[in-house]
Parts: sequence; C-alpha cells; structure tokens
Amino acid sequence: MSQTAIYPGSFDPVTYGHLDLMKRATRIFSKVIVAVANNSHKKPLFSIAERLEMVKKATRGLKNIQVEAFDGLIVDYAQRKKINVLIRGLRMISDFEYELQMALTNRRLNENIETVFLMPSEGYSFLSSTLLKEAAALGANLSSLVPNFVEKKLKERLRK
Ligand code: ADP
Repeated sequence: MSQTAIYPGSFDPVTYGHLDLMKRATRIFSKVIVAVANNSHKKPLFSIAERLEMVKKATRGLKNIQVEAFDGLIVDYAQRKKINVLIRGLRMISDFEYELQMALTNRRLNENIETVFLMPSEGYSFLSSTLLKEAAALGANLSSLVPNFVEKKLKERLRK
C-alpha cells in the first residue's frame, strides 16, 4: 500500500488552488510527489524548467512535498516509482467529465493505480491557470491567486 501519492499536472503556472490541494493531500499521505508534465500537448506558456522552478519555490515552506518532472504516461511513471495513488483536483462539475474520463483511461492502462479526487477550498474553486493567464495579460491584480513571484513572471511574459 502506498503512503506516497503523486499529484500530476501541467502547473502552467502553479496557483494557490494547486497549493491548497497539495496541503490537503499531505494531510492524507505521508509524502506527495508533485509531478510536472513535460509532454504537455497544451503548448504551455512556461517551459518545463520554469514550471518546475516555480512549483519548487512555491512549495519551499511545505513539508513532505517533492517536486519532479515526468515524461510519457503518468501510470508508467507511477509504476516505475511503485506508487499506486494519483491525486487530481475537482473544482466544478465542469471538471468532472474530463477528470472521470482520464481516471478511467488511466485505470484501463494500469488497474493497480487509483485516482483520488480532492476539492480545493471554495475560494479557489473558480481558479484555473487558463483564466489566470487571460487576466494577467489584461493587467489584473493576481495577488490573491498566485504567489507574488508567479504574478511577476506571468506579467513579464504576457503584458505587451
Ligand atoms: P492538467 O493540464 O493536467 O489538467 P493542471 O495544472 O491544469 O494540469 O491541473 C492539475 C490538477 O489540479 C487537475 O486535476 C486540476 O483539476 C487541478 N486543479 C487546477 N486548478 C485547481 C484549483 N484551483 N483547485 C483545485 N484543483 C485544481
């Protein structure tokens, strides 16, 4: 049985919603590996090195969190590490369909691995990296949504 869980995602960039989920996960699991996807088909705004660095910096004060990059299928990565729990976040009903599809596909690929869903604090249930990038491009104040250094990086990258 796994005492460690993997929290995979693009983290483009990491937000307080992700961090809220990480803190909740460490209340259940003795260790959480945040796995930053390198093979994102989503054309990320930030490179894998930048996303990794931002997650590392944002989690510096948190205990029992390890941050790594991964390539390829998340179930293969989990199998290699002998970890059988994946964590994903559910914000709104709208997340449910995609997340259920992904969880069941991952189960078909490797039935030993379970996906556990956690809900963020309701204050972050509307927060997505996609909307964040749109707001950043328009110059919004993001201080309640992401750490200051992430806001700075977003604005450097997006503001014309
Ligand atoms: P992906 O591209 O793999 O969906 P994301 O970085 O967008 O990666 O999200 C990783 C996981 O974190 C997903 O399960 C997503 O639902 C969850 N998540 C993203 N934003 C939040 C948030 N504000 N609160 C809780 N969970 C979130």
